Amino acid sequence: MMSKTEALDEYFELTPKGVVTDKWSKARVFVMSSRGWSKMMAEIRAVFSNEASLILGRMGYSYGRELGKAIKKTGKDPIEAFGEVVQIARLAGWGKMTLLTGDPFGSSASVSFEDCVFCAGVVEDGTSSCEFVTGVLTGAFEETTGNDYGALEKFCHAKGDAFCQFNLERKS
Ligand SMILES: [Zn+2]
Ligand SMILES: [Zn+2]
Repeated sequence: MMSKTEALDEYFELTPKGVVTDKWSKARVFVMSSRGWSKMMAEIRAVFSNEASLILGRMGYSYGRELGKAIKKTGKDPIEAFGEVVQIARLAGWGKMTLLTGDPFGSSASVSFEDCVFCAGVVEDGTSSCEFVTGVLTGAFEETTGNDYGALEKFCHAKGDAFCQFNLERKS
């Protein structure tokens, strides 16, 4: 088993100038606090109310398209690449992503997210709050496969569920 430092070194390169690179995608990355993130999300919800879900979903979707491009650039088999994304997401503090059912790029899939960072600071109010993650998964699946997907968050930690879970269905 790798030590924490060895695992981080495998995927991230730090330079003295404050440039951190994700070795896998060769892209620059940065660390964001989940408290800051939850305040930003609360601000978007306060300002845009009904439109906030759409905005957050589209933000995630754009992020997911970029992630999908990185997956394609590795030239790896998408299933193998999906496994690496799971590993990187865990090391980057996103939480523990698990493929529950389905083929990640097949006609349907469910993905769980334990200790999801995107709703870590959210006050439970009975509603799902990880539209950003729903968007990331949709964008990544669409970019990687070239098909259209519909996605919904079935369970959400912010709703009082044990973890967040996303169900994806291929539309075309
Ligand atoms: Zn979540
Ligand atoms: Zn959630």
